[in-house]
Amino acid sequence: MQNAGISRRIESLKRILKRCVLCPRMCRADRIAGVKGFCRLDARMVISSALPHHGEEPPLSGSRGAGTIFFSSCNLRCIYCQNYQISHSPAGRPVTAEELAGIMLDLEARGCHNVEPVTPTPHLPGIMEALRIARERGLRVPFVFNCGGYERKEILRLIDGRVEIYLPDFKYGLDEAGKSCSGVPDYPCRALSSLREMVRQVGDALDIEDGVARRGILVRHLVLPGRTDNSLAALKLIREVSPFIPLSLMSQYTPIPAVAGDPLLGRRVTREEYERVVNAALDLGFEELYTQTVDDRALNPDFAREKPFAWEGT
Ligand code: SF4
Repeated sequence: MQNAGISRRIESLKRILKRCVLCPRMCRADRIAGVKGFCRLDARMVISSALPHHGEEPPLSGSRGAGTIFFSSCNLRCIYCQNYQISHSPAGRPVTAEELAGIMLDLEARGCHNVEPVTPTPHLPGIMEALRIARERGLRVPFVFNCGGYERKEILRLIDGRVEIYLPDFKYGLDEAGKSCSGVPDYPCRALSSLREMVRQVGDALDIEDGVARRGILVRHLVLPGRTDNSLAALKLIREVSPFIPLSLMSQYTPIPAVAGDPLLGRRVTREEYERVVNAALDLGFEELYTQTVDDRALNPDFAREKPFAWEGT
């Protein structure tokens, strides 16, 4: 994409903030005037932290860490969110695009293998502006779009050519699960059309050189307790796009205080549940799987300190 084209797309993204439809919630809030939609964010970008992260899947963390930038708040706000300390709150440090570009360059200078904004969607205009500035100043590592999967393909088209690696969740295969856990009526169809657009842009594989991801896609699915029906439905939808898509099946679900008393979400995933989902993925023909052990440790991250997760080989 030529510079003029990049700038035009960034300007289009900025204009959307005037009547925000960056995500499928389509609040149409005038965020530039300070009105807040569901994500409770005005037009400013807000971050929680930025650090070399060693807890991502091995090709993303590599030996020196992913360059993870945790953004505050979220357009989904799942009731069980493992990152609830930051995703359920818009609090944090406001940053300009210039400052964010500096953070990206600093992460690269610290040896990170990529720059990876987490939940970029509500902050997208500023992030793409920051990426443009950082690239002009020499940023070379891949840009990873680590999102919740509840995206609009029309918005993803505006960042075509700027994302090297898509890292979307595919949380729900059943409408009812999206409604009860994230309050959205249409997660599966939105996630499916977004996934198709991501694959159109970067392909359905993850290119890895010297153990480090360079380009492509990796889809994450967090197995929820008592909801293997939802997991199996999600796998079938992902397979509709391609059986070659690399999958990260996560067993690390840990109940957060808000759902501690929930009859389904109030416990960890059992080994049997997790193995059922992994076996279903294999039966559906998925070959590139990243899996985790199921154990009794509390595994939800504590944003007061970094806590890596354990990954097994593919
Ligand atoms: S990004 Fe926020 S304000 Fe914009 S549509 Fe999504 S939830 Fe609403």
